[in-house]
This record gives sequence, structure tokens and C-alpha cells, in this order.
Amino acid sequence: MNLSYWEQKEWLSNIDFTIVGSGIVGLSTAVFLKKRFPKAKILVLEKGILPQGASTKNAGFACFGSLSELLEDLKSHSVDEVLSLLKNRVDGLQLLRQMLGDKALDYKPYGGYELFLEKDQEFFNTCLEKVKEINTLLSPVFKADVFSVVSNKFHFKGIQPQYLFNQFEGQIDTGKMMHALIQKTQNLGISILNSTTVDSFVENTNSVLVKTNHFEFNSSKLIITTNGFTNKLVQQDLKPARAQVLITKPITNLKIKGTFHLDCGYYYFRNIDNRILLGGGRNMDMDVEKTTQFGINPKIKNKLLNDINQFILPKEKFNIEMEWSGIMAFGKNKIPIVRRENQYTAIGVKLGGMGIAIGSLIGKKVSDLLIE
Ligand SMILES: Cc1cc2nc3c(=O)[nH]c(=O)nc-3n(C[C@H](O)[C@H](O)[C@H](O)COP(=O)(O)OP(=O)(O)OC[C@H]3O[C@@H](n4cnc5c(N)ncnc54)[C@H](O)[C@@H]3O)c2cc1C
Repeated sequence: MNLSYWEQKEWLSNIDFTIVGSGIVGLSTAVFLKKRFPKAKILVLEKGILPQGASTKNAGFACFGSLSELLEDLKSHSVDEVLSLLKNRVDGLQLLRQMLGDKALDYKPYGGYELFLEKDQEFFNTCLEKVKEINTLLSPVFKADVFSVVSNKFHFKGIQPQYLFNQFEGQIDTGKMMHALIQKTQNLGISILNSTTVDSFVENTNSVLVKTNHFEFNSSKLIITTNGFTNKLVQQDLKPARAQVLITKPITNLKIKGTFHLDCGYYYFRNIDNRILLGGGRNMDMDVEKTTQFGINPKIKNKLLNDINQFILPKEKFNIEMEWSGIMAFGKNKIPIVRRENQYTAIGVKLGGMGIAIGSLIGKKVSDLLIE
């Protein structure tokens, strides 16, 4: 790309911080850095026309983990790790709400439900037995019982007659959240350049040489927030994970309200704009879904369609309006990677399915790493 003197001088010279990726983490990082260093020149580079990872593709659950998900986590993490992750989700969500405001997020505190299929009686009983224990475990964080048992008030079919209810769970409008975050970033005087892919970078004595598909430039510091795409730029202990979502056309008199989890969080659905949005099913085809390629897996789509027909809306007539996918990042454990890579480079990635809740906090933490 043949840059003009003006383009070079205004956009690509004397850059203090360059952030790769304009998802929730990248933009939050930019906002926190600007608060700390009001005079800093900050540049965000994004490969997509819009953010093209998970932040504009997700289901908008402002959640802390269903009871079965927490039980699953306790099998592979220590109690302290589970509590620390949970606290990060609570604090991160609070930070996001403070940063953008509930109106901009369209935050709705409808609560969250965990449903259990009729065939999963034993699993349901195990979860029921654990309600008290888990509430006690979480009480230092929430200062109240998180989970309670409620009856099948939305009349789903083929499930256990009771659900577990999480009074603290909410939902947001993902599009509104990201739109507000982009606006906030730009209003602070931070440049976002879209359709710009960072191909590689080299640390020099005093700065980092950043090489993109269009141009090269020097930046004093570099922050990588590329989540599922990170290994294309710098090898990390994570794998990409595709997740897909369907949304119905508006449904007259839709009564379902809240966020709903099934099967340790692998399936989920919610109401939005008189529609049902549902997604998940990655566990059906785990190896195939470890990809950075967007796309629809027909096997998973059929399962989601089957779920909505059989369990969620067995008596309603509905049509699917749209389907899409997004790319997340998972690893051997659920703990995000937030660290300084080199002298001038830091990284904040691997947010799993928790990015709404922890994304802004990870942005804050990674912005702290390069401050001396
Ligand atoms: C279908 C789906 C449903 C989900 N539901 C929920 C939910 O309900 N609740 C929840 O908490 N979480 C949910 N998540 C997870 C959540 O969306 C993610 O954890 C979060 O968005 C991650 O944010 P991020 O900023 O780390 O990554 P991303 O949003 O993926 O941002 C990374 C950005 O980096 C850009 N990029 C990558 N490589 C380069 C490069 N070399 N050069 C320039 N740019 C680059 C990408 O285009 C992307 O925009 C869901 C995810 C999906 C896919």
C-alpha cells in the first residue's frame, strides 16, 4: 500500500500502543490504556470489516456458569481456581456495566435457568443434591443463595419438572454492547483500522515492528487480543473453537424470558426481540469444531433444530431467520492467558465461553501489564 506523507504521519507514526483485534478484550484494553495515559497514541488493528471473532457473534448471556458447569469445573480445577474465575466473571460484568451503562447494553436481569432432560434423571438428582453445597461455596462472592429450584413455568417438553434458577444471571444485546464499545473507543480519540491483518511482529531494541497485510510501522508497545486466531501470530497453549447459533423470526406472544442452559452449558437459548436464539452443540463434533473457519456444521444444526422443535417450542409455529458462527478459544483449563510475552509485547486471550463477563476485566488486566 502506497501511503501518503499525511497518512503515515497521522495514523502510523509515534504509536505508543498497538492492539491487535477489536473484540471486547482489545477495545477494553484500548479504553483502559487511554484512561491511564490520556496523551498516548493508541491504534487498534482489526482484520474484519466488523470485529470477526466472537464478540459480535455470541449469545449475550451475562452469566457465571450453571450449577452443572461449576460441578464440571470442580473436576478439573481447584476450588480456589473455580472461585477466582467466578469472582472475575462477577467483577468483569460489573466493570462492563459501569463502563457502558445498562441502557447501552440493554441489560436485562431476567435470571438464568438450567434445564435437565427427562432421560437425565440421575444427573438431575446429583445436581439437586449439590445445590446447598454450591450455594455455600459461592456465598463469599454473592452474599446470598445463587441457585434455587423452580417448577417448569415455561412449559418446556421432555425435561425434568423442575429447573435450577440462578437469580443473578442476566442478558445483554451483544450488538448494542459492541457498537457502544466501538463508539466509546473512537470518542476517546483511539484509531481503529479495519480490514487490516497483523501478519507478524518483531521486537527491536526500543519498539516493536508490526507487519500487516497493507503496511509496516513501529509501535512502542504491542498488545495481542486475537483470542481464537492467536496461534497464527504467536503460539499459545489454546485451540480455536467454533460455535454456532440460530435465531427464529419473531414469535407472537412468546412467553419465554431469560437465559437457559442445558447439558453442562453445551446448549443454550434465550429470548431476544420476541425471538428465540439458540446455540451450542460443539461437543457433538469437537474435533471438527476446533477451527478458525466460520461455517455451519449440518450435524449440529440438525440437533439444534430438533431441540427447539421437541423441547423449547413444541407447540408453537416458528421459522428460523438466521444462522451464524463465531470463533472462541479454549485450552486445557479455563484460566485465560494474560501475560507479558516479551519486553514490549503483552497478550490477553483464551476467554472460552465467558468473554461477555470477563472480557472487560481481561482488557483492564492486560492494559496493566505494560505499564512501568
Ligand atoms: C456463538 C457464540 C456464543 C457465545 N456466547 C457467549 C455468551 O453468551 N456469554 C459469554 O460470556 N460469552 C459467550 N461467547 C464467548 C465470547 O463471545 C468470547 O469469549 C469473547 O467475545 C472473546 O472476546 P475477545 O475479544 O477475546 O475475542 P474476539 O471477539 O474473537 O476478538 C478477537 C478479534 O481479533 C481479530 N483478529 C484476529 N487475528 C487478527 C490479526 N492477525 N490481525 C488483526 N485482527 C485480528 C478478530 O477478527 C477478532 O475481531 C460466545 C461465543 C460464541 C462464538
